[in-house]
Amino acid sequence: MRLSRYFLPTSKEIPSEATIPSHQLMLRAGMIAQAGSGIYTWLPLGLRVLKKIEEIVRQEQNRFGAQEVLMPTIQPMDLWKESGRYGCYGEELLAFTDRHNREMCYSPTNEEMITDVFRRYVKSYKDLPISLYQIQWKFRDEIRPRFGVMRGREFLMKDNYSFDLDKESAIRSYQNMYQCYLRTFNRMGLVAIPVKADPGAIGGNMSQEFNIIAETGENELYYHKDIETMRTQSLDSIDLEKLQGLYAASGEMHDPATCPIHEKNLVVKRGIEVGHIFYFGTKYTRSLNALVNGPDGSLVPAEMGSYGIGVSRLVAAAIEANFDDRGIIWPESIAPYKVGLILAKSKDGVAIKLANDIYAQLQENNIEVLYDDRNASTGYKFADMDLIGLPWQVIVGKNAASGYVELKNRKSGELYQIHSEELLGKL
Ligand code: ATP
Ligand code: MG
Repeated sequence: MRLSRYFLPTSKEIPSEATIPSHQLMLRAGMIAQAGSGIYTWLPLGLRVLKKIEEIVRQEQNRFGAQEVLMPTIQPMDLWKESGRYGCYGEELLAFTDRHNREMCYSPTNEEMITDVFRRYVKSYKDLPISLYQIQWKFRDEIRPRFGVMRGREFLMKDNYSFDLDKESAIRSYQNMYQCYLRTFNRMGLVAIPVKADPGAIGGNMSQEFNIIAETGENELYYHKDIETMRTQSLDSIDLEKLQGLYAASGEMHDPATCPIHEKNLVVKRGIEVGHIFYFGTKYTRSLNALVNGPDGSLVPAEMGSYGIGVSRLVAAAIEANFDDRGIIWPESIAPYKVGLILAKSKDGVAIKLANDIYAQLQENNIEVLYDDRNASTGYKFADMDLIGLPWQVIVGKNAASGYVELKNRKSGELYQIHSEELLGKL
């Protein structure tokens, strides 16, 4: 993409309504535009990141045996009356009536709706286990929407629901998603710490949250220092059993009186909740009468779990974990483009020719490139490129005549002088 034609409204000013780095940077980098309280339009650059995160989530869900569905965003309230959550989910539920005076709501979560699908089609234990997920917009009328897409009212969530015959296999489904989540966040270049969590409005008895460590996180986390060490390891070398056995809790789930770890091994940090897994048994299958035939012929309610990932929140959380005073530093797997190509001498014919050639070559080799071909000052271009945080910058300027360019790593700041012919190999 040529920047001269790209819709990228960047800005130097720190927007006064934004108090945390990710919100400021997403506005300044032209990723989102506010449409209303807690509601955002995703602009081209922001949408590319959202789609990359969505795709990693999808691939990992599929890898771990889940099947994608797509449920509507609007639900009939009858289902909520059946499940017993009507009236007790609270003000976060956006409810309204249609022209025929039927009560409806905008989905804040979909346990009822998926259980309704399940009960209509699944009749036998032979069809179990089943794991269905969707990546769909949700609406929660948050009392205090803030921090941009971090706590929006409309937000994109991956929600998965598992159905099993008995508790034992339901726990296996839960463990399967646990591992899936570690892999999912790891692929995004993020380390999410699993902690014991409060099951909240969904209810249930087993629940863990995945948190990304960041000073601006809303959760207070308490965990064993060995988890801190694991945070820096690659996923393959993490001992999953050890990880699950170590103490980690969020907020009120932490009780100093019963905390099993010695003070000197306890780490207290703030975190952003990016995922949440629940096992809640038959809470919804009982109330909605979702029964299957067991091996002995008796009718039993299926055992359920639900598993959320905050896809749109992750865009902001990834920034909170990766930025400096010049802007965003994208992990490569979720970066909107891999390379920012900067034409540093926009009036020099030789430099223009070389930059154009490199642009064509990168495109031919399917390397995602954003080409700053604008007729603007070099300082302005550098500032914009650092702000939007693409992992690699290729600068074509002073040594263009001899075919040399500069390759800069956004994260480390390292700068290499290389010949344009070596560029492809290096990238
Ligand atoms: P929180 O405690 O942050 O309100 P929650 O426990 O209500 O989260 P879940 O119901 O578990 O959230 O939803 C699954 C995931 O959706 C969360 O882990 C989070 O990443 C994301 N999420 C929840 N609420 C919002 C929101 N208002 N804006 C953006 N993402 C959200
Ligand atoms: Mg909430």
